[in-house]
Amino acid sequence: MSYQAFVVKYGEIGLKGKNRHVFEDALVHNIVVSLRPVDGSFLVEKEQGRIYVEAQGDFDYQGALEALERVFGIVEICPAVLTEDKGFDELSKEILDYLDETYTDKHFTFKVLAKRARKNYPMNSMEINQELGGRILDRFPEMKVDVHHPEKEIHVEIREKISFYSEKFPGPGGMPVGTNGRAMLLLSGGIDSPVAGYMIAKRGVTIDATYFHAPPYTSERAKQKVVDLAKIVACYSGPIRLHVINFTDIQLAIYEKCPHDELTIIMRRIMMYLAEHFAKEDGDIGLVTGESIGQVASQTMQSLLVTNDAATLPVYRPLIGFDKQEIIDRSLKIGTYETSILPYEDCCTIFVAKHPVTKPHLDRIKKSEHNLDDVLPDLMQKAIESTETIVVEAE
Ligand code: ATP
Ligand code: MG
Repeated sequence: MSYQAFVVKYGEIGLKGKNRHVFEDALVHNIVVSLRPVDGSFLVEKEQGRIYVEAQGDFDYQGALEALERVFGIVEICPAVLTEDKGFDELSKEILDYLDETYTDKHFTFKVLAKRARKNYPMNSMEINQELGGRILDRFPEMKVDVHHPEKEIHVEIREKISFYSEKFPGPGGMPVGTNGRAMLLLSGGIDSPVAGYMIAKRGVTIDATYFHAPPYTSERAKQKVVDLAKIVACYSGPIRLHVINFTDIQLAIYEKCPHDELTIIMRRIMMYLAEHFAKEDGDIGLVTGESIGQVASQTMQSLLVTNDAATLPVYRPLIGFDKQEIIDRSLKIGTYETSILPYEDCCTIFVAKHPVTKPHLDRIKKSEHNLDDVLPDLMQKAIESTETIVVEAE
């Protein structure tokens, strides 16, 4: 069967009330954008709780499906046949032909699920279920009705448009990007932060990103790896404004002036200051990191308290309760894992102490940080001025 259309279903949560159209319009817009790189031309229209994606002529079916599978807010994608109202006889004939063509082996159970949203249609949903069910059994005696656990659900929806479908693919869920503000993601080349970016975008948040680069200790390839990760995340989140901040001089100053067991935690605090600078420039109202409680020394509750103290914006940590394996599973699913594990050096691993503090005290850390007072404002200013900003688009 070659489909010409998809019926797209979206979540009910967040749809209630007067903001419903904001959500739907954003979803339609994001679908249009996601289909741009796909071969073919598409008409995307919303109607009473559904979005119809209709290909105009030849198109890349698999490409379109995969694009839709990445659009947050979609809960289900059903390859469908859209048709005109030419009466019930004609409709049943089309559905029977569709079943014939789609399923060469018809030994399966089914149930007809009609939905008559347009009340001037001459038959109600129950009548359509019964009549169509009967005609299916007449033509394909191998098929059996099972109203409780059918192997195939044959949906018929009578709205302004008439559609029918029997196959479905899960969407990613969440809310359309752009409906829930902006946040600044601290994006490293690791496994966690790209997943954190995916998770926050899944809730409808537009993301910008900062990457702390330490040349010559970290290479161009390490930077390219972060750009590549941003490209993958952008397949879900839309374009990402990525700020590449040169962090070398700040790290050298910390190394020179602060106790070595406190390097990582002080570095984290300064990352917060700088990320927040760009967050405010970009209109971001939160910071996002890939931290999860207890994963490493800098992510104990005490360490997170000390890091948090450096930020005035809320810090969102979507992976906070995830085990490492759960994060890895998610990164495999979204496609960032293979890039994340490329073995390029990271600014944190180069300046890391053998035995970092695991229970830092805020007062002590702040006292150590004061060792930087005479150089830090100037170094931060230089880092800000030399930052390279790249707009990263989906691959
Ligand atoms: P990741 O896999 O995201 O690198 P991680 O397990 O390596 O995380 P850390 O290195 O402790 O953990 O970093 C914690 C968080 O701090 C990261 O998830 C990321 O949000 C941020 N971060 C760390 N290093 C950088 C960097 N070089 N640039 C930007 N953000 C960073
Ligand atoms: Mg890391």
